[in-house]
Amino acid sequence: VAASSRPHVVLVASPGAGHLIPMAELARRFVAHHGLAATLVTFTDLSAPNANSAILSSLSASQVSTVALPAVSLDDLPSDAHIGTVLMELMGRSIPHLRALLRDISSAAPLAALVPDFFGSTVLPLAAELGVPGYIFCPSNLTVHALMRSAVELNDGAASGEYRDLPDVLRLPGGLLLRREDYADGFKNSKQPIYAHLIEAGRRYRAADGFLVNTFHEMEPGNAEVLEQAAEQGTFPPAYPVGPLIRPSSDEDDASACLDWLDRQPTGSVVYVSFGSAGSLSVEQTAELAAGLEDSGQRFLWVVRMPSLDGGNSAMFTGRGGSDKDDDDPLAWLPEGFLERTSGRGLAVASWAPQVRVLSHPATAAFVSHCGWNSTLESVASGVPMVAWPLDSEQRTNAALLSENVGVALRPRAARAEIAAAVREVMGGEEKGRAVRLQAGELQQAAARACAPGGSSWQMLEEVAGKWKAAALGRQKQKMT
Ligand code: UDP
Repeated sequence: VAASSRPHVVLVASPGAGHLIPMAELARRFVAHHGLAATLVTFTDLSAPNANSAILSSLSASQVSTVALPAVSLDDLPSDAHIGTVLMELMGRSIPHLRALLRDISSAAPLAALVPDFFGSTVLPLAAELGVPGYIFCPSNLTVHALMRSAVELNDGAASGEYRDLPDVLRLPGGLLLRREDYADGFKNSKQPIYAHLIEAGRRYRAADGFLVNTFHEMEPGNAEVLEQAAEQGTFPPAYPVGPLIRPSSDEDDASACLDWLDRQPTGSVVYVSFGSAGSLSVEQTAELAAGLEDSGQRFLWVVRMPSLDGGNSAMFTGRGGSDKDDDDPLAWLPEGFLERTSGRGLAVASWAPQVRVLSHPATAAFVSHCGWNSTLESVASGVPMVAWPLDSEQRTNAALLSENVGVALRPRAARAEIAAAVREVMGGEEKGRAVRLQAGELQQAAARACAPGGSSWQMLEEVAGKWKAAALGRQKQKMT
C-alpha cells in the first residue's frame, strides 16, 4: 500500500513529556512496523517546551506527522483543580478542533483509529461519530489500569456524590496487595472531586474498543491474564500490553557533561538519581538524599531540580538561610559542603540529563527514581535495578509493584540511613541487592524479546493494527459501492 493511502491512525497526547514520549514511540512503531500512517496530536500549552520540541522534531524522520491544536481557555477552572481534571477538560474542550483535523485527514486517507491517551475519554464519542475504532492509550501499566477498573466497578450504579471508597487494601490479579497509601493520587479518597472525575472517565472508557498499555505481558503476567478474561466476558474493553515504548537513545543529545563524566567512571559503579520531568524534592528531602548518597560511599550522578518550597525550611538544612539562594540554580540548594565532600565520586547536574543514554551507559549500575513509568521502563530496558522514591501521581503504585511484585526495586523510607543502606544493597549487597540485580537482568531480556518481531508486544500491535486496517478497507469499499 502506498504510504499516502495507508489507513491513518490519529493519536492524541495530553501535555507532559511522560505522556508524549511513549505516544511518539507508539506512533513511530505503527508506521515503521505495522503498515499504518500516523499523526500525533499535541496541545499548544505544553509544560516542558524544550523536551517536547526535541521529541517532536525527532519524529519527522520517522514519517509521523505532528499537529498542535490551538489553545482553548481553561481560565474558569478552579485554581486548585487536580492536574488530571485540567487535562480531561483540555481534551474535552478541544473536540471541535480535533473534529476539524480528523475530517481533514480523512479526506486524504482512510482513518484507521482514534487513540487519545488516558485523559481523553471525552474524545471517544468522536470516534463513534466518525465510525472508526476508539482506543485509549495508557502511559502507565496494567496495575494502575486494574486499580482504575476496580474503582469503576465498585461504583457501578452509584450516583455522583455517593461514590464509594476503595478498600484499604486491594488484592490485584498479579498477587500484589496494594495499600491505600500507595493508590494513585486520584483514587485515594472518594470525597475529592478528582475521584468523581476519574470514575466518570472510567465509565466512558467502557465505550472504547480497547486500551493500549505501555507495559509488557512478562512484567505483569497476572494482570494481563485477568484483563483478557474481563474482555472475553465483555465487562471491560480488552487491554493490550504493547510496551515498553521507549524513545531511542539516538533521539537524545550525545554531547553532554554527564556522558563525558560517565565515560571516565568504572563499569557498573554509578548510581543515577533523577525524579522525572517535573518531580522535585522538598528542601528536607534533598538534605536526606544528599546525606544518604554521601554515606553510601558510592559514585553518583544526580539530576537536581529546584526544591519544592512548600513546608520546607531551607535555613535549617543549608546553614546559609533561604534568602541568598540563586533563584535559578538548583545546585545552590544542596547542603553546605556536599559537592566539595563528594567531589571526584559524585556529579550533580542542574535540571536535565539525557536519561536513556545515561541508563544504558556501562558505568550506570542503579537508579534512584521517582518511579515515573517512563523512567521505570527505561531502567528495565537497560537492566538497571532501582531504589524507589515515589513522589506523587501514580508513582507509589508503581513503587509497590516494582518492589513487592516485580522484584526490581528496593523501597527505603526517605531517610538518610535507609537511603544509604538501600543504595549500598542495590549496588553490591548479597541478598536483596543480588535478587533485584538478577531480576533486572532477566526483565531486560524479556522486554527486548517482547518488542522484537514475534514478541508479545509486537504481536499485540500487529493484531490491533491488522484489525484497524481490515476495518478501514471495509469502510472504504462500502463508501465506493
Ligand atoms: N527525562 C530525561 N531527563 C531528565 C528527566 C527526565 O530525559 O533529566 C525523561 C525520562 O527519560 C522519561 C521522562 O523524561 O522518559 C519522564 O517520564 P516519567 O514517566 O518517568 O516521569 P514524569 O516526568 O511523567 O513524572
